[in-house]
Amino acid sequence: MKELKMYVNGEWVDSKNGESIAVHDPSTGKQMASLPRGEQADVDEAVQAAKRAFESDEWRKVKPFERGRLLYKIAGRLERDRDELANLESQDVGKPLSQGYADIDAAIRYFEFYAGAADKVMGETIPIEDGLLDYVVREPIGVTAHIVPWNYPIQILSRSVAAAIAMGNTVVVKSAEDTPMTACRIAEYVDELELPAGVFNHVTGYGSEAGAALSRNPGINQLTFTGSVATGIAVSKAANENVVPVTLELGGKSPNIVFADCDIDKTVDGVVKAIIQNAGQTCSAGSRLLVEESFKEAFLKRVVERFKKLKVGPALADEDIGPILNKRQYDRILEYLELAKQEGNVLVGGKPADVDAGGCYLEPTIIDGLTPNSRLAQEEIFGPVLTVFTFKDDQEALKLANSTEYGLVAGVWTKDVSRAHYLASRIDAGQVFVNNYGAGGGVQMPFGGYKKSGFGREKGWIALYNYTQVKNVAIRYE
Ligand code: NAD
Repeated sequence: MKELKMYVNGEWVDSKNGESIAVHDPSTGKQMASLPRGEQADVDEAVQAAKRAFESDEWRKVKPFERGRLLYKIAGRLERDRDELANLESQDVGKPLSQGYADIDAAIRYFEFYAGAADKVMGETIPIEDGLLDYVVREPIGVTAHIVPWNYPIQILSRSVAAAIAMGNTVVVKSAEDTPMTACRIAEYVDELELPAGVFNHVTGYGSEAGAALSRNPGINQLTFTGSVATGIAVSKAANENVVPVTLELGGKSPNIVFADCDIDKTVDGVVKAIIQNAGQTCSAGSRLLVEESFKEAFLKRVVERFKKLKVGPALADEDIGPILNKRQYDRILEYLELAKQEGNVLVGGKPADVDAGGCYLEPTIIDGLTPNSRLAQEEIFGPVLTVFTFKDDQEALKLANSTEYGLVAGVWTKDVSRAHYLASRIDAGQVFVNNYGAGGGVQMPFGGYKKSGFGREKGWIALYNYTQVKNVAIRYE
């Protein structure tokens, strides 16, 4: 069993209180590692180390292209250890192995993408008047804090940390207490690179302790939080007390809108994958199927057939669906399934899956017959549970699509180009996909929420600006 350490100021450390947290393998329920239970004092030390590193000439003098090279080196190590890391991520989160590979590949791409960007974010000059030179530079912000959830640990860490370092900031990461394994590996790569001590720090611990301490720490200059709405509000309030900019990447209840003129084979495939990925424990899961009324019977029949064939099993067996993260999440989903029996029709699934491996497994589930304002239609279930609604025309489809407090992602499935463009322009979501869902997760595409799915954007070029602040300099020379 691994005894994990935090990485603070270039050193491998335990928490000051000497306590640890057990990390479990979701597939078996068995303990796979122990993790330092970091608290305020540990976080303070990490933030101070990041602050000293940021203010040091040692880091300031690293040229932008050299920062890029450091990031390329991390990408290279991820690539070198791809098999080991995919297995580790798959085991730690409980996601089917092939999805573990996809996550490592995405992490590699984040480091590569932001490595290439490190020396390409430029300023501008502004014409004011003769004798006055006005220019704008984008400077790093300082100590950036990154609070990461348990469902896509390495991807979510990589996307914000790579962008922050590319822009010359220093970093304190708080990984999720359930899934810290790959973050510890990233710390090992940083350690091998001999970056100035304190540029990258990784603290571990419970959200209410280490996470809360980081979000309210007066030494941080920026906060990127990915997680639930409730926690997002709490961390945002804490950071606001210190007047610190925040990027919030929160939950979703994303619709897949299916019209009768779609390509049925591709659409069934897209709709099913969108809800079963990572056992539905995905912020952008396509958890609501909105289908044109006249097409419902034919389409749903195909989706139900597919659901019945899906296999559930331990992560490394690489079936279609792995275990639910832990008993707490599992019980939460079971409560929703109980409600489903009272308020709707369970077309398939709705109960624990028959997998005798020790973890918590659920059958993929489809629920029909719900009213659009019911809890099951409105709340993020975070499990392999698809809810179904029908519409008669574009307007009703739009109304339903926009009827929750979330607005992360939406899918539109139709061959009618005008309708696709019209809906894309009217849907409240940070990403709209037409005749696909997720576009393979492209690291280049801005990602983030409308409404309570958050604010600010991760991924793509635009995310670099989260990690810079703008300075205008006006020079009178005449
Ligand atoms: P969570 O909010 O419980 O935890 C997220 C992180 O915050 C963890 O590291 C946790 O330890 C920490 N935390 C918990 N309480 C805290 C507090 N009081 N102060 C500071 N930090 C605290 O979320 P989760 O259950 O880990 O993740 C699932 C949620 O994340 C879902 O709602 C999902 O939709 C969302 N999510 C969003 C995105 C996105 O990019 N939009 C990506 C993945 C997950």
